[in-house]
Amino acid sequence: MVEGRALAVGVIGSQAGIDRLKGRAEGKVRLEAVRTPYGSVDVLRGLVGGAPFAGVAKAIAAPAPPHRMPHRATYWALKKSGCARVLTTSVVTSLDERLRLGDLFVPHDFLDFTGWSPTYFEGGPEGVHNAEMDAPFCRGLSRELVSLARSFGLRVLEEGTVATVPGPQHPSAAECARLAQAGARAVSFSAAAEAKLARELGICLVAAGVTVRGALDEKAWRPGPEAGEGKEPSQAELLRAFAEGREPPPRAEAASAGPRGRRHMQGEKGGARPREAEALKAKLKDVDLRLEEAAAAFVPQAAAMAPCRNCPKGEGPHGL
Ligand SMILES: [Zn+2]
Repeated sequence: MVEGRALAVGVIGSQAGIDRLKGRAEGKVRLEAVRTPYGSVDVLRGLVGGAPFAGVAKAIAAPAPPHRMPHRATYWALKKSGCARVLTTSVVTSLDERLRLGDLFVPHDFLDFTGWSPTYFEGGPEGVHNAEMDAPFCRGLSRELVSLARSFGLRVLEEGTVATVPGPQHPSAAECARLAQAGARAVSFSAAAEAKLARELGICLVAAGVTVRGALDEKAWRPGPEAGEGKEPSQAELLRAFAEGREPPPRAEAASAGPRGRRHMQGEKGGARPREAEALKAKLKDVDLRLEEAAAAFVPQAAAMAPCRNCPKGEGPHGL
């Protein structure tokens, strides 16, 4: 941490989300270009709820595919800005029918299927450090965020594992089946990379994923007894139920399910009819706004929390 600066709570989100956080800030805000060994990062600094925050937009300069996101620069810049606690928001694909479109997923662990692992410790002068990844997301921060998100009317699924895939393509139906069998409830493009880097810097991290794509046909991959008797709900019925936050219609009998995986993934861009797509878009916009309200409320709460005794405190690489 840079000496002489008050502890700030870091918030990583979309550019629109960070812009709106700016709108909620009290008094003056300033955009600082923070230099890091991995490039310069624009960090928005200000006060919200009386507490200092440092906000970074995920796609900093230009849209980048997941494997080119400057996570190392982002977390380095936040650490340099005095952040010991960070909330990162993103979007996820649901693998669990309890996690519906528009729901927030706050994972407690990750599975990394990316095949690459960003690190601050590349050997050489930086040395090698084997970060402890037990409980990669901060329990205290996660509890706080879940409670706040619910108070702002969001449906939250807490606890569970998020699988991280390299992208930019979404996983196939067969890959989703494999990930679900491995215990993942949702799929992300960045959760594991972010958790690893935060841990290397000794930052407490909470991740919140908005479900924008969902696996509607659970039977496509899950073994065990099939759902009970009943009429197969149509895709439109399912999407309408998701959009309106209702329980989905009763699940269908196996015989009427049709080819496995045929209706596998649906969501924001997943082939919904125009009316359902509009309803989903409106719902996801509402969810984004509620999440931003929760994030703004999270800053003073996180700033006031007692020092975390659960997350290991990494010393960080040289030069930070
Ligand atoms: Zn912690």
